[in-house]
Amino acid sequence: KPEEKKSALSGLNEHQLEAAATDEPTVAVIAGPGTGKTKTLVARIAYLVEEKGVEPSAITAVTFTNKAAGEMKERLLDYFQNKRTVNAMTIGTFHSICLHLLEKQDKNVTLIGEYEALDTAAQVIRTLELKISPKQFLSEVSKLKCGKQSDLLSGEAAEAYDSRLRSMGVLDFDDLLLQVLLQWEEGNTGKKAVKTFSYLLVDEFQDVSDIQYRLTKAWSALGQSLFVIGDPDQSIYGFRGSDSRCFQRLSKDMPALRQIRLTQNYRSTPEILRCALPAISQNEGEERILHPNRKNGDPVQLLTAQSPLSEGIYIAKEINRMVGGVDMLDSQAFSAGHEAEQPRSFSDIAVLYRTHRQADMIEKCLRKESIPYVVMGRDDFLADPKVRGTEAFFRFLLEPRDIPALRASLSMAFHFPEDLAARLESLFLERTISDLASSDAEAVFEEYAEVGHCQKWMELIRKYLPRVQKEKPRSLLEDWAEEMEWTDEEPLGRFMNMAVFHPNMAAFLSNLLLGEEGDLSRNAQQSYTADFVRLMTLHGSKGLEFPVVFLAGVKKGTLPLESAAHPADIPEERRLFYVGMTRAKEKLYLLSSPSEPSEFLSDIPEPLLQKSPVTERKFQYEGKQLSLF
Ligand code: ATP
Ligand code: MG
Repeated sequence: KPEEKKSALSGLNEHQLEAAATDEPTVAVIAGPGTGKTKTLVARIAYLVEEKGVEPSAITAVTFTNKAAGEMKERLLDYFQNKRTVNAMTIGTFHSICLHLLEKQDKNVTLIGEYEALDTAAQVIRTLELKISPKQFLSEVSKLKCGKQSDLLSGEAAEAYDSRLRSMGVLDFDDLLLQVLLQWEEGNTGKKAVKTFSYLLVDEFQDVSDIQYRLTKAWSALGQSLFVIGDPDQSIYGFRGSDSRCFQRLSKDMPALRQIRLTQNYRSTPEILRCALPAISQNEGEERILHPNRKNGDPVQLLTAQSPLSEGIYIAKEINRMVGGVDMLDSQAFSAGHEAEQPRSFSDIAVLYRTHRQADMIEKCLRKESIPYVVMGRDDFLADPKVRGTEAFFRFLLEPRDIPALRASLSMAFHFPEDLAARLESLFLERTISDLASSDAEAVFEEYAEVGHCQKWMELIRKYLPRVQKEKPRSLLEDWAEEMEWTDEEPLGRFMNMAVFHPNMAAFLSNLLLGEEGDLSRNAQQSYTADFVRLMTLHGSKGLEFPVVFLAGVKKGTLPLESAAHPADIPEERRLFYVGMTRAKEKLYLLSSPSEPSEFLSDIPEPLLQKSPVTERKFQYEGKQLSLF
């Protein structure tokens, strides 16, 4: 094409330009939502390679999720039009980068699966007769490992859990980061690895944990440039140990830190920003400045619905109206006077909520209206016993020391009794799996042959062992499903769909482990850009943007989320509300309750909200009361 190639920095505003092209060794870009932080980070990478001649292999960019890493790679690929350049860079989450580092050192790293970790926690709880749930146990262990205090757990309990992991030869997520951190703090790293981090860039820096902060410091210690970007007002992982004061910490640790602020918001209409700013301004901090760059649009809608059902019905009807699928006169928003609206596609629209549980009702309503949707980050089907058994079986084949995987595969897929599982376990601690699978191990098989599904299990071990490294995960799984007579299992089908995107079983399984909220749908559905409405939690929506956003359940108890088990951290809940609102580019709908609105709504000046009730009458359809269920 005759079209001239864009320069790395074209289209950036003055401050973005300053950030992207800076020569200073440590830079923090601290700026509000939609100000182009991520865009600036990508531009800086392009600039470093194109203008500064930096080798791609000397660049590492850390993203918050694997999905964000994938998107960043795509944007860079778009720019460079050269796979080799982009592949030479290191782009990923802290966890995936650490895993990669250890694997490069030929360290045999086996990560413990989420469910296996819960099982292990449950065993420790039982042994020590603790009164705590496995989930809570794990989060307290994590706190302790990250150098924090725990009110609920002793160091001994954490040690008991840890020694179990050690005896099984597996690491958990914190260990993965800690191992790498230890190496780097001791200066125990190869020159080559050091070079990888010469130019280190970190997105969403406001959500780094203590370990991640220290990793950032250690990695950049011998580097040329550290570039971190983020927004303290969007720090929403405090419950998991992130600390939005990391920017202050950095400027203390690195006195030469150059701070750059961006104030032009390119994402949202002035109406949306005018509502979002007073809401977040209730939190402590300097005055927030966000100048809207977009033209005026529609006022923010506040809908009050009597129940989650009518809320869901409203959302479904409104979506159908927007894409032009339903009788226009049926819609109340239409009668509010938006004749000139252009039709939307489903993928323009996101429905956000505070908890996964809220998704069920919304899903039902969307299904009823035949609206294509995808629920992001919900991995229920991974908890299905057959899926767990399958995953564990192949995990064990790839890593025979992974005893939790062995145990899970035996009990989930083959219903082995506990005592037999224990015997097999000790057998596997002594021998390698290829010993057992080789023909001279017949005697061992014989011994177990008469027990239940044992024969079958051995058969399958021998059948798949030679193939697991070579074949594509999808075909292995299809074959396996047939062997197990599980071809009609829906959860397993979804699992197989995810496998399509991975070149080999090891990559697939490690991606599963490292997958974070929001990652799954990209795999589960054909492609990320397909025409679906996106359903996701507020947490999962971080960094994303959509022309139309519905924020469901903006009411007491739900946002801020508050229950006996979950005392609300009000400033953090307010940040979540702020993150949600600022995802919207053009249209924002807040769904609330007439009797119990969220306290956050009262921070928004009333004239800024176009308020209307959702009434059941609105769901008369062709003269009939619409009965949904
Ligand atoms: P968040 O805090 O939500 O992560 P962000 O600061 O990372 O937001 P981006 O996602 O990088 O913001 O950018 C938001 C939107 O604004 C994107 O659609 C981006 O393309 C657009 N944008 C950013 N800078 C500019 C610019 N200089 N000119 C035009 N569009 C821009
Ligand atoms: Mg961003």
